[in-house]
Amino acid sequence: MSLNENLEKLSNAYGVTGREEEVRNLMIKLMKPHVDEIVVDKLENVIAIKKGKKSSPKVMLAAHMDEVGLMVKTVTKEGFLQFAKMGGIDDRILLAKKVIIHTQKGPLQGIIGSKPPHIQKEAERKKIVAFDELFIDIGVESREDANAIGVKIGDPVSFDAKYAKIGKDVVIGKAFDDRVGCAIMVETLKQMGKTDCTICAVGTVQEEVGLRGAATAAFGVDPDIAIALDVTIAGDVPGVREFDTSVKMGKGPTLTVADAGLITHPKVLRLLLDVAEEKKIAYQLETGLLGSTDAARISLTRQGVPSGTVSVATRYIHSPFGMLSLKDAENSAKLTAAAIQKIQKHF
Ligand SMILES: [Zn+2]
Repeated sequence: MSLNENLEKLSNAYGVTGREEEVRNLMIKLMKPHVDEIVVDKLENVIAIKKGKKSSPKVMLAAHMDEVGLMVKTVTKEGFLQFAKMGGIDDRILLAKKVIIHTQKGPLQGIIGSKPPHIQKEAERKKIVAFDELFIDIGVESREDANAIGVKIGDPVSFDAKYAKIGKDVVIGKAFDDRVGCAIMVETLKQMGKTDCTICAVGTVQEEVGLRGAATAAFGVDPDIAIALDVTIAGDVPGVREFDTSVKMGKGPTLTVADAGLITHPKVLRLLLDVAEEKKIAYQLETGLLGSTDAARISLTRQGVPSGTVSVATRYIHSPFGMLSLKDAENSAKLTAAAIQKIQKHF
């Protein structure tokens, strides 16, 4: 299966943070043919292990399986669902979006609504409607009706968006943060070839609420080096200053030099740069971004883990649709697989 096909499946799967089961099952299926063993830890990270020599470094790859979403917080007596946010979502993108409520009785469809603009006062219309003034309309008449069809407080809610290829290499879809990392990790395992290193490819949980799964997974794996595979913000749309973010969609994998939580270990950065140059893979460098990735948490595990990040410059992350270049994703896998081959020379 190609990276494009895997990304389509992963993007269309649902896994609001803390409820990653569907994505985890898919990751197990996709990684299984390429590894010796698969373990799920107590926090429900999935760890695919390719055994190497005991004397060689243990490498941890990490891609988070969760996506930002919502959670049912209250059901009004008229049957409207008010919600909490799971992960960073800009309130401005919520209004009028189609969503899916994942109840124990099955999925329900709904629309995020607000007080109609037609009856808003002039001043009201100019301000952003905050998420706590919004509600999900599932078309029922009462709290009892909502409960009867399965709605419960705490049900996860995801955006309803389908993957599509819209250009030669350009795709749009839900949850590219970080299903593209998941797809790259599968592709890396596929392309990796023989190595003496032990590889632990980890699909982590609860990244979007504070890199939580990475903490327990890294403690358990106890790696000698780690690479997180994730997305970063593409700055190639109108209104973005180059100073704020200079990386662009389609210009190659992005290597983080430093972000809000990680200063890439110099040996890891050297390894990735050497491999990119040797394999003639175009890359972009990035520093000073406010966000971070699983690598930040992994790097502080036990006595410290030299860590780095390979990311795909993606537009419109944390919204119903992201946009990215498949070429960037493919080259990220190529780069990561080649870096694994070189680890013993650098460590
Ligand atoms: Zn991410």
